[in-house]
Amino acid sequence: MEIIAQAKEMQRRSEQRRREGMIIAFVPTMGYLHTGHLSLMREGRKRGDVLAISIFVNPTQFGPGEDYGRYPRDLKQDLKLVQGAGVDIVFTPSAQEMYSDGFQTSVDVERVTQNLCGISRPHHFRGVTTVVAKLFNIVKPHLAFFGQKDYQQLITIKQMVEDLNMDIEVIGMPTIREPDGLAMSSRNAYLNSKKRKEVLSLYRSLGKAEELFGQGERSAATILQEVRRIIEQENSVTIDYVKICDARTLEDIDEIKGEAVIAVAVKIGKTRLIDNIILKEE
Ligand code: AMP
Repeated sequence: MEIIAQAKEMQRRSEQRRREGMIIAFVPTMGYLHTGHLSLMREGRKRGDVLAISIFVNPTQFGPGEDYGRYPRDLKQDLKLVQGAGVDIVFTPSAQEMYSDGFQTSVDVERVTQNLCGISRPHHFRGVTTVVAKLFNIVKPHLAFFGQKDYQQLITIKQMVEDLNMDIEVIGMPTIREPDGLAMSSRNAYLNSKKRKEVLSLYRSLGKAEELFGQGERSAATILQEVRRIIEQENSVTIDYVKICDARTLEDIDEIKGEAVIAVAVKIGKTRLIDNIILKEE
């Protein structure tokens, strides 16, 4: 396994592999890796000849007062984990390597970034699309894997790739959960056991939404009311948003038709967690 910190060197290595006719699979991450990340790598390993990942906590996708400084980091442990996952190349640039002093270009995807997390994190997706565009230019993948846990991010990246004619197949992967249903996230490390128990209401509430939908309920307001009620039972969990949106445009909908996403963001203490499920007619 190669570890590369310089963008130029990464580009050279990818170019070589491409000339050899190899398919490059790529999994971008912010590190502090868990089984969710590893599931993306497993699929990348299957579908590519070369599996590259990146570990980079991207400062530009964090807002002022968010957790950039205290975001969990453990490169040594991450490298151990990915060695077992068949990763060929780990790209681990510094912030300086990615954003030199004169940096002034960004990528903005307009409509799908407005709703949901875009409301309380107004510059977040610009940071994400800009860094992912840079990573795509550096790693030059044929295939890129993203988790559905960050559903709005997945839709935004797909939109960027389509709009900018990037020659990359973006593959969305299912959310990996803890045995009790909590979506795996590096940020779960912030939770003590009391909070850890309380945030389970998130998964419970989505389960209830699925159940109501399965019974034929199609009114977003009715489902959302029930979801809110379940989350609000836990005193220390505050809702940022609970929404049902068109699964493609991410605009709010009143009536569920075709494919919808129910997405939830909550805060517990200083920790912000998100989750979602797709509601789709069989
Ligand atoms: P992050 O390190 O949080 O930026 O995540 C890197 C990639 O892993 C993103 O595409 C995430 O959507 C994906 N990911 C994070 N958590 C999970 C999970 N529980 N299941 C599947 N994919 C995940």
